[in-house]
Amino acid sequence: MGRNRVPINRRRLYGALGSGALLVGTIGYIGFVDPHNQRSVYPQCPFRLLTGWNCPACGGLRMMHDLLHGDLAAAITDNVFLLVGIPLLAGWILVRRRGRSALPMPAIVTIAVAAIAWTVLRNLPGFPLIPTIITG
Ligand SMILES: [Zn+2]
Repeated sequence: MGRNRVPINRRRLYGALGSGALLVGTIGYIGFVDPHNQRSVYPQCPFRLLTGWNCPACGGLRMMHDLLHGDLAAAITDNVFLLVGIPLLAGWILVRRRGRSALPMPAIVTIAVAAIAWTVLRNLPGFPLIPTIITG
């Protein structure tokens, strides 16, 4: 009952403000707490824990930290797939957004195939772009 009393525009505004605050807090944490350091508090990747392999997103937090500190070369090393893919996908969704579904089935299949190909490629022996971890 009480929920219906809040106008839809105000609900959208609160939702946008809450999402923005969460995003700023998350980016701030990633900027201040170095995910390269094993002693920093970040969730473990369940795929890596189970298989020992890097998933398509492994190194994404380290990539974001490197970007926030202006180190593009380290960001490329940590996860070039997300570094290139996230802005491309966001731009494509924004351009396509008006009146159509944001992610049609061919786009979802393309993203899934690209993520699987990236996962196989990055786990091949000798692949040079390995997310860096600082131990000790
Ligand atoms: Zn992972």
